[in-house]
Amino acid sequence: MKFQRLRGTKDILPPESLLWEKVIINTFNILKNYGIKLIITPTIEDRNLFIRSIGEGTDIVIKEMYEFKDKKGRDIALRPEGTASIVRAYIENSLPEKIDLCYLGPMFRYEKPQKGRNREFYQIGVESFGVASIYKDVEIIKLAYDILKAVGINDFTLRINMLNCKECNTDYIKSLTKYLNKNINTLCDNCRGKIERNAILRVLDCKEDKCRSITANAPLIKDFLCKKCMWNLDLAKDLLNNLKIPFKEDFHLVRGLDYYTGLVFEFITDKLGPQQNTLLAGGRYDNLVKEMGGKDIPATGFAMGIDRIVEVLAAEGIQEEQKLNIYIVSDSERMQKAFLLLLKLRENNISAVMNFDNKSFKSQMREADDKKVKFVLILGEEEEKGNFVSMKDMKTGEQKKVGNEIVIEEVKNLLAQDVIK
Ligand code: ATP
Ligand code: MG
Repeated sequence: MKFQRLRGTKDILPPESLLWEKVIINTFNILKNYGIKLIITPTIEDRNLFIRSIGEGTDIVIKEMYEFKDKKGRDIALRPEGTASIVRAYIENSLPEKIDLCYLGPMFRYEKPQKGRNREFYQIGVESFGVASIYKDVEIIKLAYDILKAVGINDFTLRINMLNCKECNTDYIKSLTKYLNKNINTLCDNCRGKIERNAILRVLDCKEDKCRSITANAPLIKDFLCKKCMWNLDLAKDLLNNLKIPFKEDFHLVRGLDYYTGLVFEFITDKLGPQQNTLLAGGRYDNLVKEMGGKDIPATGFAMGIDRIVEVLAAEGIQEEQKLNIYIVSDSERMQKAFLLLLKLRENNISAVMNFDNKSFKSQMREADDKKVKFVLILGEEEEKGNFVSMKDMKTGEQKKVGNEIVIEEVKNLLAQDVIK
């Protein structure tokens, strides 16, 4: 019997996985520059953790959670996102109040699978605890911007909004409720449910066309911001302008989770269609740590969807090739010597491969060609007798003899002159 992977999941295979590798490595190089530390938390958690943090009126909790009872009857969920777990771990392990953390891992949401939308997908995220300053928000946006550039995404739009604080929220919610109630018959069932449950802001996040046509004219958050919120928004805009990070204000942007409080943002692309155009999104969530039983600690962060990033890169025709430096060609009698040379190259941090199948020289050369290696080292009968290896430069076709004792040194020298390391 043959098995198939579950709907909405995928096998990430070469050569596409090379793009994943590039995205992950380049992202972590940037995160290192910002002094951010890695945190790894479980993929399964108490279901209530997500209900309490993400919010009962959100799409994730209403319809997207993977939930089950374990053998002892406990309610468990596969994590749909990272922040709730990180906040749990931050409180449970009494981490330093001020700390910047990053994570990488699979998330699970029971959604309709389509391009850029899977049931198991991967995120790299950042959570910054302990700093309330708007400078921190802008630093986090700059970090996200640096990451997108570093992974090769150049064409994107940054949208920002300032959510109302406790002081200015009530009036906005009143005004929005009034407006939505006036149009209630046009809204989808899901959104009507949100209004009943008092999850008014969540209606702004609905992706249904008919709801979008209503929310497009909803009251603007900006018109209700108090002085302090407005001041923060203006400073954030000023800083972004100074950093030359282009952005658009979107006064209906609320994000799909309940815990956001201040500056929120999304980086979107036009390469994946309007329904799944968000590549990276985040914002401030100053109340969550306290609400989850911790101290009153401000926080902000974001999550980037790796699947979507890779899809954009692939859509732009970007392909990664494995960069291998050396292929060793030899025969059965010289296999052991060749094998030792292979290991020595790798000990010296030089990427190298060989074939153990006793293939002809010709077919080994073909394989070396396919792998696009920089140099081939040949170890045949003649070479063994003369205590040397033949070294072929695959670009120029030139071949020369290199004494056994200087092979590593010579390879290193030649590679240093070349871009492939
Ligand atoms: P969307 O509006 O597209 O549903 P979201 O608001 O639910 O996104 P977040 O919870 O903010 O997304 O997650 C951050 C990022 O994770 C998204 O911007 C996206 O890149 C990625 N992401 C979210 N859901 C999925 C999914 N089902 N499949 C692939 N990537 C996803
Ligand atoms: Mg979603």
